[in-house]
Amino acid sequence: MPDFITEPARRVEVVHRTQVLVVGSGPGGLAAALAAARTGVEVTLVERFGCFGGNITAVGVEGFAWYRHEATVEAGGIGREFEERAKACGAAVPESQSLSYELDSEGFKLVADRLVEEAGIRPMLHRLFVAPILDGNRIVGIVTESKAGREAILAERVIDATGDADVAVRAGAPCVKTPIEDMQAASVMFHLAGVDKRAFLSGVSADPQTYADWSTGEWQIETSGKEDKLFSPFLGKPFAQAIRDGVIPAHLNTIAGTWGAVHDTGELTYMNLVHLSGCDGTDPDSLGRFEIEGRRQAMLAIEALRRYTPGCSGARLRNFGMTIGIRDTRKIDAAYNLTEADVRGEARFEDSIGIYPEFIDGYGVLVLPTTGRYMHIPLRAMLPQGVDSLIVAGRAIGGDRIAHAATRNMAACAVAGQGAGIAAAVSVKLGQPLAEVPIVAVQAELIRQGVRIH
Ligand SMILES: Cc1cc2nc3c(=O)[nH]c(=O)nc-3n(C[C@H](O)[C@H](O)[C@H](O)COP(=O)(O)OP(=O)(O)OC[C@H]3O[C@@H](n4cnc5c(N)ncnc54)[C@H](O)[C@@H]3O)c2cc1C
Repeated sequence: MPDFITEPARRVEVVHRTQVLVVGSGPGGLAAALAAARTGVEVTLVERFGCFGGNITAVGVEGFAWYRHEATVEAGGIGREFEERAKACGAAVPESQSLSYELDSEGFKLVADRLVEEAGIRPMLHRLFVAPILDGNRIVGIVTESKAGREAILAERVIDATGDADVAVRAGAPCVKTPIEDMQAASVMFHLAGVDKRAFLSGVSADPQTYADWSTGEWQIETSGKEDKLFSPFLGKPFAQAIRDGVIPAHLNTIAGTWGAVHDTGELTYMNLVHLSGCDGTDPDSLGRFEIEGRRQAMLAIEALRRYTPGCSGARLRNFGMTIGIRDTRKIDAAYNLTEADVRGEARFEDSIGIYPEFIDGYGVLVLPTTGRYMHIPLRAMLPQGVDSLIVAGRAIGGDRIAHAATRNMAACAVAGQGAGIAAAVSVKLGQPLAEVPIVAVQAELIRQGVRIH
């Protein structure tokens, strides 16, 4: 038997035509779809799961702007709107370490539904992108797989907001993938019920943790120094004690991290404690293996919390995220790739589509925007090479490792998304290729939509 098969050619029904098609609905894709629709073009949003929101809703990542301090300078725009709308809908609570609100991962599903509906976006949930439709080197649509089989959707412009550059890579755009041994860890996230809020918070006040505590145990984190004394909702001691008592095996000294919000109803949410090195988010076997291992480690973490953390003796698992959380896979090799020097050095670009405060979190570096420092995000970092009519938003935009440690953050993904959405919409309206769209027209629409670009 050969080790491959050849699929027969087949006719695929065109189920829908649109002007701007966004694939993936995380902070990048949702912002892109809303921004494009508000620019006045027809927008369709394709998502493999049954809800919008990406990591916010599907993984349970609730800390949207936990970096925000008094002096932080922000882009505003749709990222800020996510927080404000969530607050107004009762789907956010004050965040413990910053001047921000923590999103409620369940409530945000409803917030996103409303935003999509109000903007007149055509939702196409439960569809997995599987192939681009190309006319030469121009993308003209996508093929999806779902319970309905294969379907074709045609579009004038496509925005790849899958996080993994799925569309770009399959369309033949050059991409880079971090080597597995260097990839940021994946995490199985969970929420707890049955926590005594008062006792938990008393325990936190009695032994407050700081960002310097992140450097105990398995990790060494480089800060700029100004972070070290600031409060962090860090949990490390219960797991070290559990290892000493034989409750957690010694080799699982990677269990540690942050809690998100504690609610009056006894829920302790956004438990970011399990870190799984070596998980390849583009390999289903790897994803499956680490989902199972992550759940096992989460239950050990809960046992340690029950034994050694004030207020948690009655805690129980409320839920895991719908899927494992992936931080790092492919990035496009863009027309311009952001660099470590850019994100550390307040880079300025003529084709800025928004600003992002100096917040770097990843690859062993933590810098918080406690000053007014910020950088520009250039449109060119979202333009893949070799494929026309395609733009990328979210964590797969072009950049090196430390640049990614900044641009992967959800508020940065929303800035990039809003820029990509407006660029795609303006290029449709003007009938000009994406790579040649006049930046002044894009920036004018960004400003009209409330984004700070300089
Ligand atoms: C455990 C964890 C904790 C984190 N903590 C924080 C934090 O506290 N603060 C912060 O700012 N950032 C945090 N991050 C980073 C942040 O969540 C991500 O980098 C960010 O969500 C990326 O946004 P995105 O829109 O690019 O992609 P995603 O949020 O991943 O959204 C991509 C969307 O595309 C969909 N999709 C993917 N492939 C396909 C396909 N083939 N067809 C159709 N749909 C598809 C997915 O279902 C998903 O909805 C964390 C990440 C993880 C994993």
